[in-house]
Amino acid sequence: MHELGIIVQITKTLNEVAEENQLAKIGSVTLEIGEVSGIIPSYFDECWLFYRKKQPLLKEAELKIERIPAITYCEHCKNTYETVKHGKICPFCHSDQTYLLQGNECNIKEIEAE
Ligand SMILES: [Zn+2]
Repeated sequence: MHELGIIVQITKTLNEVAEENQLAKIGSVTLEIGEVSGIIPSYFDECWLFYRKKQPLLKEAELKIERIPAITYCEHCKNTYETVKHGKICPFCHSDQTYLLQGNECNIKEIEAE
């Protein structure tokens, strides 16, 4: 239940934001979710629909998910490439001195009040 844990965290943040801005209801939430974050969007959606019922603030809040492609950088040849396709080994020079530039995020990008 990786997804539910994240939703609980997000809800916590949303409650704080709502309190700060005196919002009674949230219309929609846009999340940025990285390709290799381990989050499955369809499952995430299901968890959201289940969980929001318990939250007065989020009862009708729509969840929008924006996927962020995973990109890896190679320190050896300074190229970037698609992480999902090639993994940790650079397809240009076959070095393993690579690191993930993006694709592991789970951020709240936008909140719309009703
Ligand atoms: Zn390389």
